[in-house]
Amino acid sequence: MAKTAPPVKKNEMIELTFEDITHEGAGVGKVNGYPLFVPYGLPGEKAKVKVINVKKNFGFGRLIETLHESEERVDPPCNVYYKCGGCQLQHMSYKMQLEMKRNQVKNVLKKIGHIEGIPVHETIGMEDPWRYRNKVQIPVGSRNGELITGFYRKRSHEIIEDMERCIITEEINDRMIDAVREIADRLGISAYDENNHRGILRHIMVRTGQITQETMIVIITRKEKVPELNKLVDEITKTYPEVKSIVQNINSERTNVILGKKTKLLWGNEYIYDQIGDIRFAISAKSFYQVNPLQTKKLYEKALEYANLTGSETVIDAYCGIGTISLFLAQKAKKVYGVEVVPEAISDAKANAKLNGIENAEFFVGQAEKIMPWWKAQGLNPDVIVVDPPRKGCDEIFLHAMIEMQPKRIVYVSCNPSTLARDLRILEDGGYETKEVQPVDMFPQTTHVETVCNIELKGN
Ligand code: SAH
Repeated sequence: MAKTAPPVKKNEMIELTFEDITHEGAGVGKVNGYPLFVPYGLPGEKAKVKVINVKKNFGFGRLIETLHESEERVDPPCNVYYKCGGCQLQHMSYKMQLEMKRNQVKNVLKKIGHIEGIPVHETIGMEDPWRYRNKVQIPVGSRNGELITGFYRKRSHEIIEDMERCIITEEINDRMIDAVREIADRLGISAYDENNHRGILRHIMVRTGQITQETMIVIITRKEKVPELNKLVDEITKTYPEVKSIVQNINSERTNVILGKKTKLLWGNEYIYDQIGDIRFAISAKSFYQVNPLQTKKLYEKALEYANLTGSETVIDAYCGIGTISLFLAQKAKKVYGVEVVPEAISDAKANAKLNGIENAEFFVGQAEKIMPWWKAQGLNPDVIVVDPPRKGCDEIFLHAMIEMQPKRIVYVSCNPSTLARDLRILEDGGYETKEVQPVDMFPQTTHVETVCNIELKGN
């Protein structure tokens, strides 16, 4: 095939019309069939674009000026939106965000899973898609001798100085970050400097139970001994009664990972509590807990609906974390078995079962792909299997173990449509049929999409 050179050159200014949008939220426009990806461009828009990177089969551009604006374009309400890497979709209407996520799921199912012609429902969105996050972890730095807090600039480790608030986080979390920073600054506690691995304060993490409004503050420091730490704790607890727990986490490594191994209770309770539906959860500093409980409830209700339980079923919840889905299912099933690879999460799951008086859920530490064949050998015969794997999807051995167990129904909860589509193909080839697919918006203003699928054994 004759090679044709790309029709554009680096630094060239062109006019481009966007026809489509990528999963990352960039506009796609074509010059003689050659696609250019342009962040913040919306379908239907015409714009002046500067070409910034030219590859053989595609290129990237920067949006300089919109010449014709889409009706779905909105002014991002966050003052640091274009600097910060946290959100990607604030420039588009919420309606369009939800449509985009549904289309993404549809396209990927077709392209990767060869699954089409089944209902992919409209994305379940939020009534108010702001201030939904129950947790924030923010880096601490210093400028002109003063402590500052803020997210990093996109693709950098430079703190955005003029970030005053994060409007996808619960308001109380914003206020607590400000409070801790101001008090620490006054007490002369230094910021950690990752260049020379000196200084003390690395991150501040705040988590609030949405229903209970109990707040936990985690102060992440380079070393354990911190001068004036007691005074910091004193001031916080005297001024802010909503704070129920203050924890120190020590991270003395040179690393991007936020939390270190050691945690130490400084004041109050080791746990804060929250509630999803009728289930209460105890959450410690290191527990994984869904960041958007309002949407989590909708997601789990969908999973429960698809599981179609009558009370007589044996259910497996694989990749169960702290048992959130398992405990939801246990209310409607005869017995639930949860499996999860992180031991601390399984201790949380057991404690949460106890906290709710749930006796028909049992939890196991291990890799799902190893425990499943063992369960099968023990004669465990699940009626329903629920899976909620991490982004990389299910292990292939695990998928085949599921097929061998022949449950009537599988409910697949996924945070990554691509690996979902890949795994559904394997299940379909193994005799299962995807009946319907429900995207849920757990992370408004970002490109993430969560999906629940209802899968049945064919001929059942
Ligand atoms: N269902 C839970 C957690 C889902 S996150 C909730 O809704 O809160 C996915 C979980 O899978 C994580 O807790 C992760 O630790 C776990 N995990 C990752 N690989 C695993 C494996 N091979 N076997 C079992 N669990 C695994």
